Amino acid sequence: MRFTIDTIPFGIISTKENPNSYYIATAFDNYAINLHTLHHHDALYNEKDHPGVKPKSNERDTIFEAESLNEFISFGKPFTEHIRKELQQRIRDGKIVPEAKVPLEDVMNHLPVHVGDYTDFYASKEHATNLGKMFRPTGDSLLPNWSHIPVGYHGRSSSIIVSGTEIHYPSGMILLPDNNAPVYQKCRKLDYELELGFVIGKDSQWGKPVTMEEAENHIFGVVILNDWSARDIQKYEYVPLGPFLGKNFATTISAWVVPIEAFSDYRCKQVAQDPPPQPHLSSSDVSTDAFDIDLSVDLIRAGERISLTKTNSKGIYWSIRQMITHHTSNGCNLRTGDILATGTISGDNHKSVGSMLEMSEGKWDKLLLTGDEILMYGSCGDGKV
Ligand code: MN
Repeated sequence: MRFTIDTIPFGIISTKENPNSYYIATAFDNYAINLHTLHHHDALYNEKDHPGVKPKSNERDTIFEAESLNEFISFGKPFTEHIRKELQQRIRDGKIVPEAKVPLEDVMNHLPVHVGDYTDFYASKEHATNLGKMFRPTGDSLLPNWSHIPVGYHGRSSSIIVSGTEIHYPSGMILLPDNNAPVYQKCRKLDYELELGFVIGKDSQWGKPVTMEEAENHIFGVVILNDWSARDIQKYEYVPLGPFLGKNFATTISAWVVPIEAFSDYRCKQVAQDPPPQPHLSSSDVSTDAFDIDLSVDLIRAGERISLTKTNSKGIYWSIRQMITHHTSNGCNLRTGDILATGTISGDNHKSVGSMLEMSEGKWDKLLLTGDEILMYGSCGDGKV
């Protein structure tokens, strides 16, 4: 899958020749474009039009020499959108100098953002219902609070890794059948969770809730996120405070962040909410609150590629604006580079669920093995974005 001119994602790269120099880049077709090199050759912006946009230390030649996108993002949307449009124009005009192009196979990708805080929600009704049925076969599949608030938990940012990084098989306290006490051993039920992660693009003020109207301005872009889950560790530890070591050993995000503007033609109406959300979580216009992104998960096992899941994100019950508003409604502040993830994205049938737990309905006839590779893809409009 390749990025198109309508996408223009941003990421952090280094090259084989210069493995210790990190640069902001975009990806187009089968190559990355090093913005530092491009800017040197022919300035991508001038300081007169963008006052305040300059490297924060003298050791850096340009703002595009950077170990994360955080500073770039913090310059604000008018600036990042200017750069994105400038790149689109130069690609159209054939003005990308060869020195700035690096074949994608020669690029080393790094974590695109420094993630200060990471929050994982539980926003897909199908996923929450599937899990509820498994865990509470006789009771209500959805707990009463789920329909009133976007339920979430604070994740761990230190173990967020960039796509392509091998993960370690976790060990933990696991309760085996017929035992009263757990034993510390290697996880036997490793799973993935297909999610979207929203990268926060603007700090919010501590003590000041972000309103539904303001929330859109706090989103920079989207990554695909895999919330690796050790289900046997999770099962024993999650009562009563929620996920902990069954989740925080690794979370993978894509190397490229797709700016929210790339989705403008692929946003649609949010699903109807019943009961109606409280006033502070309501908006008179929810016509662009859903994202029509086709998502897929493939497994590579012993050289064979197997399709596990094909689904779409437009049915997610809670919107990113509601997640941001709810998250800050008590005065908790969000910072540039934070990630808010949707939670597992599942559809309503076996081929559209975003985790193996759901696929196997808890019977565990499917689970991840050492050596497996998980590939997650997203695209809009048959590959236009
Ligand atoms: Mn999750």
